[in-house]
Amino acid sequence: TSPQPGPAALPLDLPGYAHVYSGKVRDLYAPLDPSGAPRDDQLLLVASDRLSAFDFILGTPIPDKGAVLTQLSLWWFEQLEDLVPNHVVSTEVPAEVAGRAVLVRRLEMLPVECVARAYLTGGGLREYVADGHVSGVRLPDGLVDGSRLPEPVFTPSTKAPVGEHDQPMSYAEVVAAVGERTAQRASDLTTRILARGNEIAAERGILIADTKVEFGIDGDDLVLADEVLTPDSSRFWPADQWEPGHTQPSFDKEFVREWLTSPASGWDKASGEAPPPLPDDVLERTRAKYVEAYERLTGRTFSS
Ligand code: ATP
Ligand code: MG
Repeated sequence: TSPQPGPAALPLDLPGYAHVYSGKVRDLYAPLDPSGAPRDDQLLLVASDRLSAFDFILGTPIPDKGAVLTQLSLWWFEQLEDLVPNHVVSTEVPAEVAGRAVLVRRLEMLPVECVARAYLTGGGLREYVADGHVSGVRLPDGLVDGSRLPEPVFTPSTKAPVGEHDQPMSYAEVVAAVGERTAQRASDLTTRILARGNEIAAERGILIADTKVEFGIDGDDLVLADEVLTPDSSRFWPADQWEPGHTQPSFDKEFVREWLTSPASGWDKASGEAPPPLPDDVLERTRAKYVEAYERLTGRTFSS
């Protein structure tokens, strides 16, 4: 199934910038230099309000989602500054995209989705059930859906083009793609980012089960890029409801998934057809969850 572009997928007409790429959620623009040519050293990263669920980009955007993700990433970049350099150049951006865009260093991205897991669920659980390993790492016996792992495990995957699924990568495949030294640093940084994230989130009643980060190369530096420790890139679980043995309530897309799979939506996940538009109360409750995650983690009040 191919993600269906939502209504907000069209690039904006931003004077002084040229559209270069749109991912599932973000639109990338290159700033134009005084001669009108696109600069190759910077990007304007604009987070849209698009939401993907069950591998579809939903037709209904979630108001303020792009701003919440951008502000949350900026906050985390700061918290993690002593651990890893990041791509942020400036938050001074055109008024049309204020709050949901950042100017960043344009990096050569590693062709790897750097995933780390602190708790077992999803694809990691499926691998474990099959043979007791996750990404080649042997785990203790007796773990169940939602179990905490002895320590975060690096479980990288491929960066699939839009519309295709990311595939698990072995550590040897990462080494083959980026070299031993970079693979080692990426693995180390990814698990440390998740561990540090969990130390901070635990004080705010949130568990970060797993997360995906992306690194770029700048000279000899491995630089944290894209977004970091957001509800889109991570599984956030309310700590007070954590109970291994079944699927945990997720912080953000709970209402969307619940409604889409309920009879009320009239949608059949197996049909391959795009999901119907979300009703207003599902939209509003989902928006509120994104805002709540931001406010709980940062201790700040979100203002759109
Ligand atoms: P993909 O783009 O691979 O389909 P996605 O749909 O999750 O993944 P988005 O988050 O919507 O992607 O778009 C962000 C894109 O920008 C990603 O391709 C990411 O690799 C890229 N990116 C993020 N930060 C930088 C950076 N500093 N330099 C270059 N590219 C970046
Ligand atoms: Mg992304």
